[in-house]
Amino acid sequence: ITGQMQPAQLAIGTILTYAAAAHATREVVSREIGSDRLWRYDYAALARRVAQAANMFTLAGIGSGDRVSSLAWNTHRHLELFYAVPGLGAVLHTANPRLPDDQLIFTLNHAESRILAFEPNLAALVERIAPNLPHIEKFIVLSDEGVGIGERFEALAYEALLAAAPVSITWSEIDENSGAFLCYTSGTTGDPKGVLYSHRAVVLHAMGAGLASAFGLTSFDCVMPCSSLYHATAWGLPFVAPLCGAKLVLPGDRMDGPSLQALIRGEAVSFTGGVPTIWTMYLAHLEATGGDTGTLKRIMIGGSAVPRAMAESFKADHDVDVLQLWGMTETCPLGVIATPTPAVADLGEAAMQDILWTRQGRLQFGVEMRILGEDGRPCPHDGATAGALQVRGPWVVQRYFRQPADCTDVGGWFDTGDVATLDAQGFMRITDRTKDVIKSGGEWISSIDLENVAAGCSGVKIAAVVGIPHPKWEERPLLIVEPHDGILPDEKEILSTLSAEFAKWQLPDRILVGAVPLTATGKIDKKQLRERYGNVYAA
Ligand code: ADP
Repeated sequence: ITGQMQPAQLAIGTILTYAAAAHATREVVSREIGSDRLWRYDYAALARRVAQAANMFTLAGIGSGDRVSSLAWNTHRHLELFYAVPGLGAVLHTANPRLPDDQLIFTLNHAESRILAFEPNLAALVERIAPNLPHIEKFIVLSDEGVGIGERFEALAYEALLAAAPVSITWSEIDENSGAFLCYTSGTTGDPKGVLYSHRAVVLHAMGAGLASAFGLTSFDCVMPCSSLYHATAWGLPFVAPLCGAKLVLPGDRMDGPSLQALIRGEAVSFTGGVPTIWTMYLAHLEATGGDTGTLKRIMIGGSAVPRAMAESFKADHDVDVLQLWGMTETCPLGVIATPTPAVADLGEAAMQDILWTRQGRLQFGVEMRILGEDGRPCPHDGATAGALQVRGPWVVQRYFRQPADCTDVGGWFDTGDVATLDAQGFMRITDRTKDVIKSGGEWISSIDLENVAAGCSGVKIAAVVGIPHPKWEERPLLIVEPHDGILPDEKEILSTLSAEFAKWQLPDRILVGAVPLTATGKIDKKQLRERYGNVYAA
Protein backbone atom coordinates (compact mmCIF):
# COMPACT_ATOMS: atom_id res chain seq x y z
CA ILE A 1 0.00 0.00 0.00
CA THR A 2 1.39 3.38 -1.03
CA GLY A 3 1.68 6.22 1.45
CA GLN A 4 -0.54 9.11 0.64
CA MET A 5 1.66 12.07 1.37
CA GLN A 6 2.96 14.58 -1.17
CA PRO A 7 5.82 13.43 -3.38
CA ALA A 8 7.63 16.78 -2.98
CA GLN A 9 11.18 16.43 -4.28
CA LEU A 10 14.16 17.08 -2.02
CA ALA A 11 15.65 19.80 -4.22
CA ILE A 12 18.58 21.95 -3.07
CA GLY A 13 16.76 25.14 -4.08
CA THR A 14 14.11 24.52 -1.43
CA ILE A 15 16.72 25.28 1.25
CA LEU A 16 17.32 28.81 -0.04
CA THR A 17 13.61 29.39 -0.71
CA TYR A 18 13.00 28.50 2.92
CA ALA A 19 15.81 30.73 4.26
CA ALA A 20 14.65 33.67 2.12
CA ALA A 21 11.15 33.30 3.59
CA ALA A 22 11.86 32.38 7.20
CA HIS A 23 15.23 34.08 7.79
CA ALA A 24 15.03 36.80 5.12
CA THR A 25 17.16 39.35 6.97
CA ARG A 26 19.81 36.98 8.32
CA GLU A 27 23.11 38.09 6.88
CA VAL A 28 25.62 36.59 4.48
CA VAL A 29 29.03 38.28 4.69
CA SER A 30 31.90 37.60 2.32
CA ARG A 31 35.45 38.88 2.12
CA GLU A 32 36.18 40.21 -1.36
CA ILE A 33 39.21 38.74 -3.12
CA GLY A 34 42.25 41.00 -3.09
CA SER A 35 40.88 43.55 -0.65
CA ASP A 36 39.67 44.02 2.91
CA ARG A 37 36.17 44.94 1.75
CA LEU A 38 33.30 42.84 3.01
CA TRP A 39 30.31 42.10 0.80
CA ARG A 40 27.17 42.04 2.92
CA TYR A 41 23.61 41.00 2.06
CA ASP A 42 20.89 38.74 3.45
CA TYR A 43 19.21 35.46 2.46
CA ALA A 44 16.42 37.30 0.61
CA ALA A 45 18.96 39.23 -1.48
CA LEU A 46 21.03 36.08 -2.02
CA ALA A 47 17.92 34.36 -3.41
CA ARG A 48 17.39 37.26 -5.84
CA ARG A 49 20.97 37.14 -7.11
CA VAL A 50 20.75 33.35 -7.43
CA ALA A 51 17.66 33.76 -9.63
CA GLN A 52 19.55 36.24 -11.79
CA ALA A 53 22.56 33.95 -12.02
CA ALA A 54 20.31 31.05 -13.05
CA ASN A 55 18.74 33.21 -15.76
CA MET A 56 22.21 34.21 -16.88
CA PHE A 57 23.24 30.55 -17.25
CA THR A 58 20.03 29.78 -19.14
CA LEU A 59 20.82 32.62 -21.54
CA ALA A 60 24.25 31.06 -21.97
CA GLY A 61 22.59 27.84 -23.06
CA ILE A 62 23.05 25.83 -19.86
CA GLY A 63 20.26 23.39 -19.14
CA SER A 64 19.42 20.18 -17.35
CA GLY A 65 22.36 17.76 -17.09
CA ASP A 66 24.98 20.24 -18.34
CA ARG A 67 28.11 20.79 -16.30
CA VAL A 68 29.54 24.12 -15.13
CA SER A 69 32.89 24.25 -13.34
CA SER A 70 33.99 26.70 -10.68
CA LEU A 71 37.55 27.53 -9.68
CA ALA A 72 36.72 29.64 -6.70
CA TRP A 73 37.31 30.40 -3.03
CA ASN A 74 34.85 30.80 -0.16
CA THR A 75 33.04 33.83 -1.57
CA HIS A 76 29.44 34.96 -2.00
CA ARG A 77 29.65 34.66 -5.79
CA HIS A 78 30.77 31.05 -5.48
CA LEU A 79 27.89 30.51 -3.04
CA GLU A 80 25.50 31.91 -5.66
CA LEU A 81 26.72 29.28 -8.14
CA PHE A 82 26.02 26.61 -5.48
CA TYR A 83 22.30 27.36 -5.81
CA ALA A 84 21.97 28.74 -9.36
CA VAL A 85 23.57 25.86 -11.26
CA PRO A 86 21.86 22.91 -9.51
CA GLY A 87 18.63 24.96 -9.49
CA LEU A 88 18.57 24.56 -13.27
CA GLY A 89 19.07 20.82 -13.06
CA ALA A 90 22.67 21.36 -14.18
CA VAL A 91 25.72 20.15 -12.26
CA LEU A 92 28.31 22.35 -10.54
CA HIS A 93 31.78 20.84 -10.68
CA THR A 94 33.74 22.52 -7.89
CA ALA A 95 37.29 22.24 -9.24
CA ASN A 96 40.19 22.38 -6.80
CA PRO A 97 42.62 25.19 -7.72
CA ARG A 98 45.34 23.60 -5.58
CA LEU A 99 45.56 20.45 -7.67
CA PRO A 100 48.61 20.07 -9.93
CA ASP A 101 47.78 21.41 -13.43
CA ASP A 102 47.58 17.99 -15.08
CA GLN A 103 45.07 16.70 -12.50
CA LEU A 104 43.02 19.89 -12.64
CA ILE A 105 42.85 19.64 -16.44
CA PHE A 106 41.91 15.98 -16.08
CA THR A 107 38.92 16.80 -13.82
CA LEU A 108 37.66 19.66 -16.03
CA ASN A 109 37.81 17.47 -19.13
CA HIS A 110 36.37 14.44 -17.38
CA ALA A 111 33.46 16.60 -16.20
CA GLU A 112 33.03 17.91 -19.78
CA SER A 113 32.07 21.28 -18.37
CA ARG A 114 30.84 23.89 -20.84
CA ILE A 115 31.48 26.95 -18.69
CA LEU A 116 34.32 27.74 -16.30
CA ALA A 117 33.73 30.46 -13.68
CA PHE A 118 36.84 31.55 -11.78
CA GLU A 119 38.07 34.09 -9.24
CA PRO A 120 40.04 37.06 -10.58
CA ASN A 121 43.21 36.01 -8.75
CA LEU A 122 43.15 32.64 -10.54
CA ALA A 123 43.35 34.22 -14.00
CA ALA A 124 46.99 33.20 -14.49
CA LEU A 125 46.13 29.59 -13.67
CA VAL A 126 43.21 29.66 -16.11
CA GLU A 127 45.42 31.20 -18.80
CA ARG A 128 47.89 28.33 -18.31
CA ILE A 129 45.33 25.54 -18.61
CA ALA A 130 42.79 27.08 -21.04
CA PRO A 131 44.41 25.69 -24.23
CA ASN A 132 43.91 22.18 -22.81
CA LEU A 133 40.18 22.52 -22.12
CA PRO A 134 38.37 21.64 -25.38
CA HIS A 135 34.87 21.43 -23.81
CA ILE A 136 34.79 24.91 -22.25
CA GLU A 137 32.76 27.29 -24.42
CA LYS A 138 32.72 30.28 -22.08
CA PHE A 139 34.89 31.70 -19.33
CA ILE A 140 33.36 33.88 -16.64
CA VAL A 141 35.44 35.82 -14.13
CA LEU A 142 33.73 36.25 -10.76
CA SER A 143 34.21 40.01 -10.56
CA ASP A 144 33.12 43.42 -11.90
CA GLU A 145 35.50 43.45 -14.81
CA GLY A 146 36.29 40.99 -17.59
CA VAL A 147 39.84 39.79 -18.26
CA GLY A 148 41.75 38.49 -21.22
CA ILE A 149 43.04 34.92 -20.95
CA GLY A 150 46.13 34.85 -23.11
CA GLU A 151 45.66 35.72 -26.76
CA ARG A 152 42.90 33.30 -27.65
CA PHE A 153 40.34 33.54 -24.88
CA GLU A 154 38.42 36.14 -22.98
CA ALA A 155 36.48 35.96 -19.74
CA LEU A 156 33.27 37.95 -19.31
CA ALA A 157 32.54 39.71 -16.01
CA TYR A 158 30.05 37.89 -13.79
CA GLU A 159 28.60 41.17 -12.50
CA ALA A 160 27.95 42.51 -15.99
CA LEU A 161 26.28 39.26 -17.06
CA LEU A 162 24.20 39.25 -13.90
CA ALA A 163 23.07 42.85 -14.38
CA ALA A 164 21.80 41.93 -17.83
CA ALA A 165 19.75 38.95 -16.55
CA PRO A 166 16.17 39.20 -15.27
CA VAL A 167 15.43 38.64 -11.55
CA SER A 168 12.14 36.88 -11.96
CA ILE A 169 12.31 33.14 -12.43
CA THR A 170 10.03 30.12 -12.42
CA TRP A 171 12.13 27.19 -11.27
CA SER A 172 11.36 23.90 -12.98
CA GLU A 173 10.72 20.88 -10.81
CA ILE A 174 13.88 18.89 -10.12
CA ASP A 175 14.02 15.11 -9.80
CA GLU A 176 15.65 14.65 -6.40
CA ASN A 177 17.87 11.89 -7.77
CA SER A 178 19.41 14.09 -10.44
CA GLY A 179 23.03 15.19 -10.14
CA ALA A 180 23.82 18.55 -8.50
CA PHE A 181 27.51 18.67 -7.52
CA LEU A 182 30.52 16.93 -8.96
CA CYS A 183 33.41 16.65 -6.50
CA TYR A 184 36.67 14.89 -7.31
CA THR A 185 38.85 13.12 -4.78
CA SER A 186 42.39 14.41 -4.88
CA GLY A 187 43.74 11.25 -6.48
CA THR A 188 46.63 10.44 -4.19
CA THR A 189 46.63 7.17 -6.15
CA GLY A 190 45.73 7.20 -9.84
CA ASP A 191 43.46 9.72 -11.55
CA PRO A 192 41.02 11.80 -9.47
CA LYS A 193 37.62 10.13 -9.14
CA GLY A 194 34.39 12.06 -9.52
CA VAL A 195 31.60 11.77 -6.97
CA LEU A 196 28.28 13.07 -8.29
CA TYR A 197 26.09 14.28 -5.40
CA SER A 198 22.35 14.12 -6.02
CA HIS A 199 19.91 16.78 -4.76
CA ARG A 200 18.46 14.18 -2.44
CA ALA A 201 21.85 13.32 -0.94
CA VAL A 202 22.75 17.00 -0.38
CA VAL A 203 19.40 17.84 1.25
CA LEU A 204 19.32 14.77 3.49
CA HIS A 205 22.95 15.36 4.44
CA ALA A 206 22.16 18.99 5.34
CA MET A 207 19.20 17.93 7.47
CA GLY A 208 21.23 15.21 9.19
CA ALA A 209 24.24 17.46 9.73
CA GLY A 210 22.09 20.21 11.22
CA LEU A 211 20.82 17.93 14.00
CA ALA A 212 21.74 18.81 17.58
CA SER A 213 23.71 15.53 17.78
CA ALA A 214 25.86 16.66 14.84
CA PHE A 215 26.65 20.33 13.97
CA GLY A 216 23.76 21.49 16.14
CA LEU A 217 23.20 24.88 14.50
CA THR A 218 20.37 27.31 15.24
CA SER A 219 19.42 30.73 13.91
CA PHE A 220 21.41 32.24 16.79
CA ASP A 221 24.62 30.87 15.30
CA CYS A 222 27.03 32.65 13.03
CA VAL A 223 28.85 30.09 10.87
CA MET A 224 32.14 30.55 9.05
CA PRO A 225 33.21 27.66 6.78
CA CYS A 226 37.03 27.50 6.60
CA SER A 227 37.05 24.25 4.70
CA SER A 228 37.02 25.09 1.02
CA LEU A 229 33.77 25.30 -0.87
CA TYR A 230 35.49 23.09 -3.47
CA HIS A 231 36.28 20.38 -0.91
CA ALA A 232 33.11 18.31 -0.45
CA THR A 233 31.01 21.53 -0.53
CA ALA A 234 32.71 22.88 2.62
CA TRP A 235 31.19 20.00 4.56
CA GLY A 236 27.69 21.03 3.56
CA LEU A 237 27.80 24.29 5.56
CA PRO A 238 26.45 26.38 2.63
CA PHE A 239 23.29 24.30 3.01
CA VAL A 240 23.18 23.62 6.74
CA ALA A 241 23.54 27.31 7.68
CA PRO A 242 20.53 28.62 5.68
CA LEU A 243 18.52 25.54 6.57
CA CYS A 244 19.03 26.44 10.24
CA GLY A 245 18.75 30.20 9.64
CA ALA A 246 22.31 30.85 10.81
CA LYS A 247 24.32 33.86 9.66
CA LEU A 248 26.97 32.84 7.13
CA VAL A 249 30.45 34.37 6.94
CA LEU A 250 32.71 33.50 3.99
CA PRO A 251 36.43 34.19 4.55
CA GLY A 252 37.41 34.38 0.86
CA ASP A 253 40.89 33.02 0.23
CA ARG A 254 42.49 34.21 3.44
CA MET A 255 42.74 31.57 6.15
CA ASP A 256 45.74 33.02 8.01
CA GLY A 257 45.49 33.70 11.74
CA PRO A 258 45.04 37.50 11.74
CA SER A 259 42.44 37.42 8.91
CA LEU A 260 40.39 34.69 10.59
CA GLN A 261 40.57 36.37 13.99
CA ALA A 262 39.41 39.70 12.52
CA LEU A 263 36.36 38.06 10.92
CA ILE A 264 35.52 35.92 13.94
CA ARG A 265 35.56 38.94 16.23
CA GLY A 266 34.11 41.44 13.79
CA GLU A 267 31.15 39.30 12.75
CA ALA A 268 30.59 37.46 16.06
CA VAL A 269 31.27 34.01 14.58
CA SER A 270 30.13 31.23 16.95
CA PHE A 271 30.85 28.13 14.82
CA THR A 272 33.55 27.38 12.30
CA GLY A 273 35.24 24.37 10.74
CA GLY A 274 38.26 23.31 8.72
CA VAL A 275 41.24 21.00 8.42
CA PRO A 276 43.75 20.78 11.32
CA THR A 277 46.52 22.80 9.58
CA ILE A 278 44.37 25.95 9.61
CA TRP A 279 43.75 25.65 13.35
CA THR A 280 47.40 24.93 14.09
CA MET A 281 48.18 28.30 12.52
CA TYR A 282 45.27 29.96 14.26
CA LEU A 283 46.31 28.72 17.70
CA ALA A 284 49.90 29.82 17.05
CA HIS A 285 48.61 33.28 16.12
CA LEU A 286 46.48 33.56 19.27
CA GLU A 287 49.39 32.42 21.39
CA ALA A 288 51.87 34.81 19.76
CA THR A 289 49.61 37.83 20.09
CA GLY A 290 47.88 36.93 23.34
CA GLY A 291 44.66 37.68 21.47
CA ASP A 292 41.23 36.26 22.20
CA THR A 293 38.79 34.63 19.86
CA GLY A 294 35.67 36.59 20.69
CA THR A 295 32.33 34.78 20.67
CA LEU A 296 33.64 31.60 19.05
CA LYS A 297 32.13 28.57 20.80
CA ARG A 298 32.75 25.53 18.61
CA ILE A 299 35.13 24.44 15.84
CA MET A 300 34.62 21.27 13.91
CA ILE A 301 37.88 19.90 12.65
CA GLY A 302 38.36 16.99 10.28
CA GLY A 303 39.89 15.78 7.05
CA SER A 304 42.89 14.49 9.04
CA ALA A 305 43.22 13.32 12.62
CA VAL A 306 42.92 16.10 15.20
CA PRO A 307 45.85 16.09 17.63
CA ARG A 308 44.50 15.85 21.16
CA ALA A 309 46.73 18.75 22.18
CA MET A 310 44.82 20.98 19.75
CA ALA A 311 41.45 20.21 21.31
CA GLU A 312 42.92 20.60 24.80
CA SER A 313 44.43 23.96 24.05
CA PHE A 314 41.28 25.38 22.44
CA LYS A 315 39.31 24.33 25.52
CA ALA A 316 41.77 25.34 28.22
CA ASP A 317 42.99 28.61 26.70
CA HIS A 318 39.93 29.85 24.79
CA ASP A 319 36.92 27.90 26.10
CA VAL A 320 36.19 26.66 22.59
CA ASP A 321 34.89 23.11 22.05
CA VAL A 322 36.50 21.12 19.28
CA LEU A 323 34.22 18.66 17.48
CA GLN A 324 36.21 16.14 15.52
CA LEU A 325 34.58 15.08 12.27
CA TRP A 326 35.44 12.19 9.98
CA GLY A 327 34.24 12.12 6.44
CA MET A 328 35.20 11.76 2.81
CA THR A 329 34.30 13.31 -0.51
CA GLU A 330 32.45 10.01 -1.05
CA THR A 331 30.21 10.68 1.99
CA CYS A 332 29.13 14.28 1.29
CA PRO A 333 31.25 14.35 3.65
CA LEU A 334 29.71 13.81 7.12
CA GLY A 335 30.30 10.31 8.48
CA VAL A 336 30.78 10.73 12.22
CA ILE A 337 31.25 13.72 14.52
CA ALA A 338 32.34 13.71 18.15
CA THR A 339 29.46 14.94 20.29
CA PRO A 340 28.59 13.66 23.77
CA THR A 341 25.71 11.48 24.97
CA PRO A 342 24.28 11.21 28.50
CA ALA A 343 26.15 7.92 28.97
CA VAL A 344 29.44 9.59 28.11
CA ALA A 345 28.70 12.71 30.16
CA ASP A 346 27.94 10.50 33.19
CA LEU A 347 31.55 9.35 33.16
CA GLY A 348 32.60 12.80 34.33
CA GLU A 349 34.31 15.71 32.58
CA ALA A 350 37.79 14.20 32.29
CA ALA A 351 36.64 10.81 30.96
CA MET A 352 34.22 12.49 28.57
CA GLN A 353 36.93 14.72 27.15
CA ASP A 354 39.18 11.72 26.82
CA ILE A 355 36.58 10.02 24.63
CA LEU A 356 35.62 13.09 22.60
CA TRP A 357 39.22 14.13 21.98
CA THR A 358 40.58 10.77 20.90
CA ARG A 359 37.81 9.47 18.65
CA GLN A 360 36.94 10.62 15.14
CA GLY A 361 33.31 10.85 16.17
CA ARG A 362 30.05 9.17 17.02
CA LEU A 363 27.70 7.31 14.69
CA GLN A 364 25.11 9.57 13.11
CA PHE A 365 21.71 8.72 11.72
CA GLY A 366 22.07 8.23 7.97
CA VAL A 367 25.51 6.61 7.81
CA GLU A 368 25.79 2.95 8.81
CA MET A 369 29.26 1.63 9.63
CA ARG A 370 30.95 -1.73 9.97
CA ILE A 371 34.54 -2.89 10.34
CA LEU A 372 35.83 -6.06 8.71
CA GLY A 373 38.81 -8.19 9.71
CA GLU A 374 41.35 -9.63 7.27
CA ASP A 375 39.12 -12.71 6.96
CA GLY A 376 36.28 -10.50 5.70
CA ARG A 377 34.21 -11.05 8.86
CA PRO A 378 32.80 -8.22 11.00
CA CYS A 379 35.02 -7.28 13.96
CA PRO A 380 33.60 -6.80 17.46
CA HIS A 381 32.70 -3.27 18.55
CA ASP A 382 35.08 -3.37 21.49
CA GLY A 383 36.98 -0.17 20.82
CA ALA A 384 40.19 -2.19 20.40
CA THR A 385 39.88 -4.47 17.37
CA ALA A 386 40.65 -2.58 14.18
CA GLY A 387 39.29 -3.49 10.77
CA ALA A 388 38.53 -2.13 7.30
CA LEU A 389 35.89 0.58 7.69
CA GLN A 390 32.86 0.31 5.40
CA VAL A 391 29.87 2.65 5.20
CA ARG A 392 26.51 2.89 3.50
CA GLY A 393 23.56 5.25 3.45
CA PRO A 394 21.65 7.81 1.39
CA TRP A 395 24.58 10.25 1.15
CA VAL A 396 27.28 7.66 0.41
CA VAL A 397 28.60 7.18 -3.14
CA GLN A 398 27.32 4.26 -5.20
CA ARG A 399 29.32 4.67 -8.39
CA TYR A 400 32.07 7.06 -9.47
CA PHE A 401 31.18 9.46 -12.26
CA ARG A 402 31.41 7.87 -15.71
CA GLN A 403 32.49 4.49 -14.35
CA PRO A 404 30.84 1.34 -15.69
CA ALA A 405 30.34 -0.39 -12.34
CA ASP A 406 29.33 0.38 -8.76
CA CYS A 407 32.03 0.93 -6.14
CA THR A 408 29.97 -0.82 -3.45
CA ASP A 409 29.57 -4.52 -2.70
CA VAL A 410 26.31 -6.40 -3.18
CA GLY A 411 25.12 -5.29 0.24
CA GLY A 412 25.66 -1.64 -0.74
CA TRP A 413 28.74 -1.21 1.48
CA PHE A 414 31.45 1.20 0.36
CA ASP A 415 35.00 0.48 1.51
CA THR A 416 36.51 3.72 2.84
CA GLY A 417 40.16 2.68 2.67
CA ASP A 418 40.44 3.53 6.36
CA VAL A 419 41.21 1.20 9.24
CA ALA A 420 39.15 1.86 12.36
CA THR A 421 37.73 0.63 15.64
CA LEU A 422 34.12 0.95 16.79
CA ASP A 423 33.05 0.84 20.43
CA ALA A 424 29.94 -0.03 22.37
CA GLN A 425 29.04 3.64 22.81
CA GLY A 426 28.96 4.22 19.07
CA PHE A 427 32.29 5.99 18.70
CA MET A 428 34.61 5.36 15.77
CA ARG A 429 38.36 5.78 15.88
CA ILE A 430 40.59 5.79 12.80
CA THR A 431 43.92 4.05 13.32
CA ASP A 432 45.20 4.44 9.76
CA ARG A 433 44.48 4.50 6.08
CA THR A 434 44.83 1.02 4.63
CA LYS A 435 47.70 2.14 2.44
CA ASP A 436 49.51 3.93 5.30
CA VAL A 437 49.44 1.08 7.82
CA ILE A 438 52.95 0.25 9.00
CA LYS A 439 53.70 -3.45 9.21
CA SER A 440 56.69 -4.21 11.37
CA GLY A 441 57.67 -7.82 12.01
CA GLY A 442 54.11 -8.91 11.28
CA GLU A 443 52.58 -6.43 13.75
CA TRP A 444 50.66 -3.27 12.83
CA ILE A 445 51.75 0.12 14.05
CA SER A 446 49.28 3.01 13.85
CA SER A 447 50.86 6.05 12.20
CA ILE A 448 48.00 8.25 13.36
CA ASP A 449 48.47 7.37 17.04
CA LEU A 450 52.17 8.22 16.86
CA GLU A 451 51.49 11.48 14.99
CA ASN A 452 48.91 12.49 17.56
CA VAL A 453 51.30 12.26 20.47
CA ALA A 454 54.26 13.75 18.60
CA ALA A 455 52.12 16.72 17.51
CA GLY A 456 51.58 17.55 21.18
CA CYS A 457 55.32 18.04 21.85
CA SER A 458 56.55 21.59 22.18
CA GLY A 459 57.80 23.24 19.00
CA VAL A 460 56.13 20.71 16.71
CA LYS A 461 53.84 22.19 14.04
CA ILE A 462 53.14 19.03 12.03
CA ALA A 463 54.13 15.44 12.80
CA ALA A 464 54.09 12.80 10.07
CA VAL A 465 54.82 9.08 10.45
CA VAL A 466 55.40 6.78 7.50
CA GLY A 467 56.47 3.15 7.16
CA ILE A 468 59.86 2.81 5.48
CA PRO A 469 61.18 -0.50 4.10
CA HIS A 470 63.54 -2.16 6.56
CA PRO A 471 65.87 -5.09 5.81
CA LYS A 472 64.97 -6.98 8.99
CA TRP A 473 61.48 -5.86 10.05
CA GLU A 474 59.82 -5.37 6.65
CA GLU A 475 58.90 -1.80 7.59
CA ARG A 476 59.77 0.54 10.43
CA PRO A 477 58.19 3.85 11.37
CA LEU A 478 59.96 7.10 10.53
CA LEU A 479 58.84 10.33 12.20
CA ILE A 480 59.25 13.63 10.38
CA VAL A 481 58.49 16.78 12.36
CA GLU A 482 58.01 20.23 10.93
CA PRO A 483 58.81 22.84 13.58
CA HIS A 484 57.06 26.14 14.21
CA ASP A 485 59.01 29.06 12.73
CA GLY A 486 62.42 29.51 14.28
CA ILE A 487 62.12 26.62 16.76
CA LEU A 488 64.30 23.54 16.94
CA PRO A 489 62.29 20.64 18.37
CA ASP A 490 64.13 18.47 20.88
CA GLU A 491 64.32 14.93 19.47
CA LYS A 492 65.15 13.44 22.87
CA GLU A 493 62.09 15.06 24.41
CA ILE A 494 59.85 13.80 21.60
CA LEU A 495 61.21 10.28 21.97
CA SER A 496 60.71 10.26 25.72
CA THR A 497 57.14 11.56 25.34
CA LEU A 498 56.42 8.80 22.82
CA SER A 499 58.07 6.18 25.05
CA ALA A 500 55.60 6.96 27.81
CA GLU A 501 52.68 6.02 25.55
CA PHE A 502 53.96 3.32 23.21
CA ALA A 503 55.74 -0.01 23.40
CA LYS A 504 59.41 0.08 22.41
CA TRP A 505 58.83 -1.79 19.14
CA GLN A 506 56.24 0.80 18.06
CA LEU A 507 58.60 3.77 18.38
CA PRO A 508 60.07 5.38 15.27
CA ASP A 509 63.65 4.28 14.60
CA ARG A 510 64.51 7.81 13.54
CA ILE A 511 63.16 11.32 13.92
CA LEU A 512 63.91 13.82 11.16
CA VAL A 513 63.26 17.54 11.22
CA GLY A 514 62.04 18.98 7.93
CA ALA A 515 59.15 20.34 5.90
CA VAL A 516 56.08 18.09 5.70
CA PRO A 517 54.44 18.22 2.24
CA LEU A 518 50.65 18.53 2.12
CA THR A 519 48.20 17.40 -0.58
CA ALA A 520 45.76 19.67 -2.42
CA THR A 521 43.21 19.00 0.32
CA GLY A 522 45.59 19.77 3.17
CA LYS A 523 46.47 16.22 4.21
CA ILE A 524 49.98 14.96 4.88
CA ASP A 525 51.32 13.72 1.55
CA LYS A 526 52.65 10.35 2.69
CA LYS A 527 53.33 9.14 -0.83
CA GLN A 528 55.85 11.94 -1.27
CA LEU A 529 57.39 11.28 2.14
CA ARG A 530 57.79 7.58 1.38
CA GLU A 531 59.48 8.45 -1.91
CA ARG A 532 61.72 11.07 -0.32
CA TYR A 533 62.85 8.96 2.63
CA GLY A 534 62.42 5.48 1.15
CA ASN A 535 66.07 4.57 1.69
CA VAL A 536 66.75 5.79 5.21
CA TYR A 537 66.62 2.29 6.70
CA ALA A 538 68.37 0.57 3.80
CA ALA A 539 71.14 -1.75 4.98
P1 ADP B 1 41.05 13.24 -0.46
O1 ADP B 1 40.53 13.61 -1.78
O2 ADP B 1 42.19 14.06 0.05
O3 ADP B 1 41.22 11.79 -0.22
P2 ADP B 1 38.81 13.25 1.33
O4 ADP B 1 38.39 14.40 2.14
O5 ADP B 1 37.80 12.54 0.57
O6 ADP B 1 39.90 13.83 0.42
O7 ADP B 1 39.62 12.26 2.24
C1 ADP B 1 38.94 11.40 3.10
C2 ADP B 1 39.91 10.74 4.02
O8 ADP B 1 40.47 11.68 4.93
C3 ADP B 1 39.31 9.69 4.89
O9 ADP B 1 39.16 8.47 4.22
C4 ADP B 1 40.31 9.61 6.03
O10 ADP B 1 41.42 8.81 5.70
C5 ADP B 1 40.78 11.03 6.16
N1 ADP B 1 40.09 11.69 7.26
C6 ADP B 1 39.03 12.50 7.21
N2 ADP B 1 38.68 12.94 8.44
C7 ADP B 1 39.54 12.38 9.31
C8 ADP B 1 39.71 12.43 10.73
N3 ADP B 1 38.94 13.17 11.52
N4 ADP B 1 40.72 11.69 11.27
C9 ADP B 1 41.52 10.94 10.49
N5 ADP B 1 41.41 10.86 9.16
C10 ADP B 1 40.44 11.56 8.57
